[in-house]
Amino acid sequence: MTPPLRTLLVAECRDGAIVPATWRALSMAHAIGASVDLLVLEPQSLADDIRGVARILTPSEAPPATALAQAAYIAHAMDAAEPAYSHLILPATAWGREILPRVAARLGAQPLSEICAVTDAHTFSRPIHAGNAIQTLTTDRWPILLSARPAAFAPFTPPDDAPPPSVATLAPPTEPADDPVRVVDFQPARGERPDLREAAVVACGGQGMASAGDFTLIEQLADALGGAVGATRAAVDSGLAPNDWQVGQTGKIVAPDLYIGVGVSGAIQHIAGIKDARCIVSINNDPGAPLHAVADYRLTMDLREAIPQWLALLAARQ
Ligand SMILES: Cc1cc2nc3c(=O)[nH]c(=O)nc-3n(C[C@H](O)[C@H](O)[C@H](O)COP(=O)(O)OP(=O)(O)OC[C@H]3O[C@@H](n4cnc5c(N)ncnc54)[C@H](O)[C@@H]3O)c2cc1C
Repeated sequence: MTPPLRTLLVAECRDGAIVPATWRALSMAHAIGASVDLLVLEPQSLADDIRGVARILTPSEAPPATALAQAAYIAHAMDAAEPAYSHLILPATAWGREILPRVAARLGAQPLSEICAVTDAHTFSRPIHAGNAIQTLTTDRWPILLSARPAAFAPFTPPDDAPPPSVATLAPPTEPADDPVRVVDFQPARGERPDLREAAVVACGGQGMASAGDFTLIEQLADALGGAVGATRAAVDSGLAPNDWQVGQTGKIVAPDLYIGVGVSGAIQHIAGIKDARCIVSINNDPGAPLHAVADYRLTMDLREAIPQWLALLAARQ
């Protein structure tokens, strides 16, 4: 029997703020049609303008920033809830992927990860085989533990008259995790450019950039468009670009309004990371490049001519 629908969404917190992927996961929570509470493990990340949730749960003191300790708090919030939560949702970010299996182990539940669509309260879809197939799963075992693929959901927009949520204090778990591991430092790779996973524009260079010597043209294009720089694995492996720029199955999943692939052939492992881009531009001197086949706009041209011309046009407009 389907219990009353109540979802607990767990916010990812970083640097004293809630990470935007949380608001995308909130859209998925509302697609289930349940009333949504938000668990914010770091009270210092709370903001006054949070809307679209019925209640905020937060501990009086943040748990240690380790996966086991945070999982213990989340499992405790689920166990202590009265009435019980029907769903638990975390964003399917690197953080969410660390935490969800640990919560599932504590609750003795099977998590459904990387969800990209909601059919009803117990039927969900997710991409498999590097995004080449969509699998639909159903379960009648409650609570249902889910992770929401950020690229698949737009950030939740609450109605203008959405009331502020109430705030309740979450007591610490009765059985805290005895975690021997402590995070002593966290240095995100960060520059002036937007985060690849959140950027509206991504200029992505492939191995073809070797013909230009380096990634300078790609970086100039990204900067001229206010975007982030991405790279294929081949470009990373050959030392043209740093690891954290890699886009694809084993890199970052991006969902920009505009993705520009320059000297990118379009291997399936790369396409897996750009499937949710709203507009794909491919610049390649090979008319048969697979990226051309999936692109909205394709330019068959040497990138060493195409990018300087584009940059000149952008400069002329400023
Ligand atoms: C398990 C596994 C996981 C993987 N994960 C990823 C992943 O996460 N991300 C990823 O990207 N790849 C991944 N790969 C690698 C993937 O299979 C491809 O090898 C890689 O994406 C190819 O990168 P590329 O397009 O830069 O290089 P290439 O395939 O070498 O393509 C270079 C392109 O540049 C074009 N070009 C060359 N010179 C010019 C020029 N002057 N002007 C215009 N165009 C030019 C060429 O025509 C060609 O199309 C993975 C592979 C495996 C097996």
